[in-house]
Amino acid sequence: MSTQPQEKQQTNCIDLFPLNPEDNDHQNAQGEPVGLIFNIQGHSVHDGPGARTTVFMCGCPLRCNWCCNPEGLFARKVLMTKSKSCIGCGRCVRACPRGGMRISAEGTAEPIREICDNCTTFECVEACYKEGIYISGKEYTISEMMRIFRRDRQFWGSTGGVSFSGGEPLMQKKFMLALLKKCKEIQIHTCVETTACLAPAYFQEVISYVDWVFVDLKHMDPEVHKKYTGVSNKLTLDNIRTLAARKDWNGIIMPRIPIIPGVNDSDENMVATANYLKDIGLDAVNLLPFHRLGESKYRQLGREYVYAEEVPPAHDYMQRLQKIMIDQGLICYVGWETPF
Ligand code: SF4
Ligand code: SF4
Repeated sequence: MSTQPQEKQQTNCIDLFPLNPEDNDHQNAQGEPVGLIFNIQGHSVHDGPGARTTVFMCGCPLRCNWCCNPEGLFARKVLMTKSKSCIGCGRCVRACPRGGMRISAEGTAEPIREICDNCTTFECVEACYKEGIYISGKEYTISEMMRIFRRDRQFWGSTGGVSFSGGEPLMQKKFMLALLKKCKEIQIHTCVETTACLAPAYFQEVISYVDWVFVDLKHMDPEVHKKYTGVSNKLTLDNIRTLAARKDWNGIIMPRIPIIPGVNDSDENMVATANYLKDIGLDAVNLLPFHRLGESKYRQLGREYVYAEEVPPAHDYMQRLQKIMIDQGLICYVGWETPF
């Protein structure tokens, strides 16, 4: 394999997925903050120390086209299809008052995305009794979340807790501030898997209530970062630098680099990332090899998956990148070989 991969000639997926509004807070009819969540997964072991409950929040400020949770790119509920369950009965087509659904040549339900991506009522889902279509995204209040955490707490042991992922887990500001404060109050260990691409004052405030921060560093060059994610890396790098320098926060920062072939796996980018980490006083990094586990979700969202032909990096290639980081003086974990 080449040691200096060719840069990929493809752009971010802003064209495929609408960008999120900056104000991403939701509330219920009683005026309480609610979180829009697309998955809650018990017994997670890769999202922080011990056994954990991982909560996947809707919405993200970045648009990486390798994202393995593309339903999390929407800061709203979104319709997804499950073709294997669909019998092509057409009930959903008849139920939709906006002409948003049709039956495809394959005989399964096919949403017209220009219409369905703006839908808020989802009459089609009510009409389907085969689960051929479903809504990603459900609102939870703080009390409902605490009930789930109390239920799961017995499985966490002494080292586990709650992890927040997404999407960008910290985008729903009011909800996350309130929920993380509550977790801190009753000593629930918390991790976030964040882009750190958030307003600086809010980021530092909310992280005060978090124990572990996994931060994704996609590329050190702001222009290349923008090309592949839709945004510059400046906010991310500045926020992590400020966090690493804080004396009043005792948490752990674990930087993660998703290794995307042809995007960020050059020797130069590895060395630049290592230099940044050393400069801000961090001594470890976690390299995560690209995988295609999210592919079927792109189909369910009616979007193209541009990495369909991409082969995940081989073990020896990951070891070579690991060696670069170790040679730069960092502790380097590959894949899920993290220190927990
Ligand atoms: S999605 Fe459900 S209602 Fe629509 S055609 Fe398929 S089975 Fe019928
Ligand atoms: S999501 Fe809304 S617009 Fe689309 S088919 Fe269902 S009801 Fe119609």
